[in-house]
Amino acid sequence: MRNRSPQTVTVLGSTGSVGVSTLDVLARHPQQYSIYALTARDRVAELAQQCRRFSPRFAVVAGARRAQELQSLLAGEGNTEVLSGVEGLCKVASDAEVDTVMAAIIGAAGLRPTLAAVESGKKVLLANKEALVMAGPVFLRALRANGAQLLPIDSEHNAIFQCLPYPCESLENSGVEKILLTGSGGPFRTRAREDLHRVTPDEACAHPNWSMGRKISVDSATMMNKGLEFIEACFLFGARPEQIEVVVHPQSIVHSMVQYRDGSLLAQMGNPDMRTPIAHALAFPQRMDAGVPALDLIAQGRLDFKAPDFHRFPCLRLAREAIDAAGSAPTVLNAANEVAVEAFLQGRLAFTSIATAIEKVMNRAPVVELTGLETVEATDLNARELARQVIGAL
Ligand code: NAD
Ligand code: MG
Repeated sequence: MRNRSPQTVTVLGSTGSVGVSTLDVLARHPQQYSIYALTARDRVAELAQQCRRFSPRFAVVAGARRAQELQSLLAGEGNTEVLSGVEGLCKVASDAEVDTVMAAIIGAAGLRPTLAAVESGKKVLLANKEALVMAGPVFLRALRANGAQLLPIDSEHNAIFQCLPYPCESLENSGVEKILLTGSGGPFRTRAREDLHRVTPDEACAHPNWSMGRKISVDSATMMNKGLEFIEACFLFGARPEQIEVVVHPQSIVHSMVQYRDGSLLAQMGNPDMRTPIAHALAFPQRMDAGVPALDLIAQGRLDFKAPDFHRFPCLRLAREAIDAAGSAPTVLNAANEVAVEAFLQGRLAFTSIATAIEKVMNRAPVVELTGLETVEATDLNARELARQVIGAL
């Protein structure tokens, strides 16, 4: 990692919800940051607009046809070079001129570029939790071997990071007793359980507190998001599963907490706006303006905390089982979930069958040790195939 000014930043997934929030924060600090690359799968017109505004060196899209489309949209304007595919993504995540990589692609598609950034020793801002969940041990080995810095963007993990000493080599040596991972409980926290099978994609995507992409919104509604975050926290903070407790906090004001041996409970609070964790990680260890209004605790009035309902949200239990089983079990959980959520969003699977399908896949897939990227990708592919079979038969 270098200390260049301005810092050069690649935003992987710049057209997504986190990507757009990242550009909003970066645009507030043009002296400190210059944008090296922007990437999107398919929203080419939107990416072209971003290129006009931020003049990156590179723009990357998913395939050759979309690359041509983007090229013709940008013809005669600026000097942005258009690349495509995973090779393009890995290049802009690892180029020597890049200091910081925002990993905000959704799902397994973000694994290779995020890993490429880690292997090149970048400052990596990690929003793409699926990449860490599916490849935790591989990721952590690469991190140690290449001196990269991983800063959590997920609001809960960013909160935990802020409540821990820095650096934090071991939770035990830092006097940490427990991590309290908060979650709103999603839009169906109080919906009658017998009605849940009728939930539609649009209902599932209408989160009460956060505005997010569709996949993570469904994950929040099933609470698989909290399950993935549980696993993410184990990897990021070297925590044992018994050291993490999920707490339902419907207002999403406390973003998570750390309980210390001496009775102290530290919480990070703020309005639910991803620009806060993004600005925190970008500026770390300094602080900078994020465009987020200060939290008005008096207007807020009250904060509630409850235990999670593992019967209503079986995905939470499945995630806990996956991290206990270790090895490739979290990879299988994540792959089955991605396929099931996609099927639900396309109207091919009932909301309550998402968990049923994942559990069946987990029961069928063997647990192996994750020795490298090849094992991760083979496990992922196999679990996706199993999930398609299971969903077809439900
Ligand atoms: P999103 O769906 O809004 O955006 C995803 C981005 O990834 C888009 O730019 C899209 O073009 C790109 N992308 C998708 N599939 C791709 C592929 N196959 N190849 C290349 N690019 C691809 O998602 P989001 O809500 O911004 O979430 C991004 C990540 O951040 C996820 O891992 C999510 O879990 C995490 N996260 C999001 C939030 C939030 O508030 N949205 C909060 C915490 C964590
Ligand atoms: Mg989160």
